[in-house]
Order: sequence, then structure tokens, then C-alpha cells
Amino acid sequence: MAEKHFKYVILGGGVAAGYAARDFAKEGVKPGELAVISKEAVAPYERPALSKAYLFPEGAARLPGFHVCVGSGGERLLPEWYTEKGIELILSTEIVKADLASKTLTAATGATFKYDVLVIATGSTVIRLSDFGVQGADAKSIFYLREIDDADKLIETIKAKKDGKAVIVGGGYIGLELGAVMKINNFDVTMVYPEPWCMPRLFTAEIAAFYEGYYARKGINIIKGTVAVGFDTHADGEVKAVKLKDGRVLDADIVVVGVGGRPLTTLFKGQVQEEKGGIKTDAFFKTSVPDVYAIGDVATFPLKLYNEMRRVEHVDHARKSAEQAVKAIKANEQGKSIDVYDYLPYFYSRSFDLSWQFYGDNVGDTVIFGDSDPASPKPKFGSYWIKEGKVVGAFLEGGTPDENKAIAKVAKIQPPVQSVDELAKEGLTFASKI
Ligand SMILES: Cc1cc2nc3c(=O)[nH]c(=O)nc-3n(C[C@H](O)[C@H](O)[C@H](O)COP(=O)(O)OP(=O)(O)OC[C@H]3O[C@@H](n4cnc5c(N)ncnc54)[C@H](O)[C@@H]3O)c2cc1C
Repeated sequence: MAEKHFKYVILGGGVAAGYAARDFAKEGVKPGELAVISKEAVAPYERPALSKAYLFPEGAARLPGFHVCVGSGGERLLPEWYTEKGIELILSTEIVKADLASKTLTAATGATFKYDVLVIATGSTVIRLSDFGVQGADAKSIFYLREIDDADKLIETIKAKKDGKAVIVGGGYIGLELGAVMKINNFDVTMVYPEPWCMPRLFTAEIAAFYEGYYARKGINIIKGTVAVGFDTHADGEVKAVKLKDGRVLDADIVVVGVGGRPLTTLFKGQVQEEKGGIKTDAFFKTSVPDVYAIGDVATFPLKLYNEMRRVEHVDHARKSAEQAVKAIKANEQGKSIDVYDYLPYFYSRSFDLSWQFYGDNVGDTVIFGDSDPASPKPKFGSYWIKEGKVVGAFLEGGTPDENKAIAKVAKIQPPVQSVDELAKEGLTFASKI
């Protein structure tokens, strides 16, 4: 079988991989030095589009429109860009074995790739209901959403089951975005999740009450406090109904499951240090193994702002960790040093006409401010998180670019708060003054 050697190999073809390729080109790579190996069939793209505009019934986003790096206002890297730069884009190639000691990757086809420096950017995979042994979870038309192939299959089924019934299992951001987009596709939508409110990892009860109220007004039925325990199927294997733990049975033509993800570290088990479920890195995304870096969803890195090791599944971190790692690799070659990674957690989501941003840490006490009435014609509200007398996190729905910048600044600077009541009254003005 063919063996190829590259100075640098990026393993993965997602957001972090695409930005890393861009940054390698910026920092200077010679033709033939860099390869990007991906099991996906398309060049790196902005993954968040898959649960948003990609699924719109009209005016949908399509490749090449959302290849990286358009999501951050950068150059769109079409497949030709890699050719022009002499970067080998090796697509539809799954790596099934990684031997870090001999610096060799083996593909499912048997092809091997040798590298001098490896950048692991394998991202996450979805958690499946079959992982929990849920009965009937392998029925047809039960979908998960991670890669463009998953989205394409979902679109086909949306068309085939026009105006049908959709059940969304999970109340995280994927569940919320999919609930909205299925409604926009004119499905009758029910969302089911076990927690007392949606997005519990980030939202407070007050924030969630707004989104649940808004979704209810859009005609989405929300069932909380129970889980899917099984599925009924038609004779052809298509899903027919979702059975809930509380005994209810929901008719379904399509089920979309969004119950979380897990980082893809399996290839490296026992070869590299791990922490908090991810590959442990330093502030330059260097792992415990020389010449091996890990970026994006798979990396557990020192988050300087909170003096804590964290793994972050956000697109913004995928982009920035890629930049930091590539800079570090190049600086290392030149015997130079660069600043440590200083990341401010940032996450966003969009659904219907809504759009929110969150910066910082969601720990401590909270205050809500603004107009969080789901019936308002133009709701705009936010929340601050306060820990040890300082604002450490800020959330804003419906903010302008300047207002979003202001809440980011608050989360970064962590200004002291004299009175929580005052803060609630001041709301956005507090952020604008910083
Ligand atoms: C539907 C969806 C919507 C999202 N929306 C948002 C959002 O609104 N805001 C936000 O901040 N974040 C969002 N995220 C999260 C964000 O997309 C991820 O944090 C980001 O993509 C992580 O980048 P990554 O490069 O680490 O992983 P990924 O982008 O997942 O890329 C991993 C790549 O590695 C490839 N790969 C994995 N294993 C192998 C192997 N063995 N061989 C070859 N290739 C392999 C995969 O095929 C994939 O191409 C969303 C994620 C999804 C799935």
C-alpha cells in the first residue's frame, strides 16, 4: 500500500482543520509540506450552518457558500485554494489507526501517512440513543446531526415526509435549532427533554422561560421531565412513534436526536495524556507527546482566565486554538516564543428571528434584565452571572454588534458589582459604560 510523508499533517477536516490550514499558509508552508486528512467528502466548512440555514426550505445555505473561513469574516477556502497553496486535501479518508511512536497514520483503505508534526482536529461525534440501549433506536428516519452527509439525508427525508410530524429529542442548542428549523419546514413539532428547562447547561430558568414561551407561540409543543425510551416502527422499518418514559406515545414521521457529543479521542487512547475527556494540552495546544498538537473540540487546555483546565465545544475556540497551535509550531521551529492562549469562552445560537450570544463563565448568582416577554414584538434581554462580587458571564438576546461587544468586554474585564439590584436595573447600560 502507498505510503506518503508530510512535514505537517492535520487529522480531521472540520472547522479547526480548515482554520489551521489557512494559518499554516499564512505562516508559510512550502508545496507538498502539509496534508489535511478528512473522512468527510468536502473541504472544511463552517459546521454551525448545518443546523441553521442549511436546512431552510428556501434560500438555503449550500457549499461552496460556507467553506471556512467565512464564518469569521475571512477568506472562503474553496478546494482550489488548497491546490494553489500546494496543500494536499485528502478527503473521504478515515484514519483507523494512529501510531504516535512511529509517527504513522493508517487509513481504512490501508494507505499510510507519515508525519513530522501532527495536529489532531478530529472534533466530536454524537451520542446515540442506541449507546443507552434505547429500544428501536436504529429505526429509519431517526437522525443525528454532525456532518454534512447527516444534514443531506435529513433534507431528503424532510422532502419525502412533507408537512409531517417531527419529534426532537433533546433540549440543548441542537434541539432548539432543529425544533425551529423543522417548524419553518412546516412540520408539526414536539420537543422532548428530561430537564426542567431547555439548555440547562447554560440557561437559567428565566432565560429558558423566554425561549420556551417563544417556541410555544410558534406552535411547538414542549414536553419536559421525561425521556424517549423506545420507538415503534412501520413494517418498512420507518419510525412511527416515540415512546416516552411517562407512558405517552408521540406519532412521528421524523425524529431528530440532539443529546450531546463526545470528543473523538479513541485513536490515541493510551498513547497521549487525557484530561476531562479530552486530549490534554498546554497553552500552545501541545500534547504530552512531542510533535503532536490537539485543537478544537478534542483539546483540554489551560483556560488562563479561570486558571482551570477546560474542554470547549465552540466554533470560536476551534478557530482560535487552530491559530494558536500553528503559530506555536512555526515559532518553535524558529526558536521563538509566543504568548499563552488567553481565551474568553464565547458561544452563540440562532433560531427563528432570535439570536443570542454568551461570553464568559456561567457560575454564581444571576440577574436578568430587559424585555424577556416572549410576546413582545422585539424582545431584547440579557443576564449577568456574578461570582465573588464580580460579573463573570454575560448573555444577550437580540443585541446589536456593539452591544454584543460590550457584554464580551464585561465578561473579560470582570468588573466589580456593588449592588445586584442596581445591576438588574442598569442592564445593558452597565456593560456599555465599561
Ligand atoms: C450541527 C451543529 C451546529 C453547531 N452550531 C454551533 C453554534 O451555533 N455555535 C458554536 O459556537 N458552535 C456550534 N457547533 C459546534 C462547533 O461546530 C464545533 O465546536 C466545531 O466544529 C469544532 O471544530 P473541530 O474542528 O474541533 O471539529 P469538527 O468541526 O467536528 O471537525 C472534525 C473533523 O474530523 C473528521 N474526523 C474525525 N475523525 C476522523 C478520522 N478518524 N479520520 C479522518 N477524519 C476524521 C470529521 O469527519 C470532521 O471533518 C455546532 C456543531 C454542530 C454539529
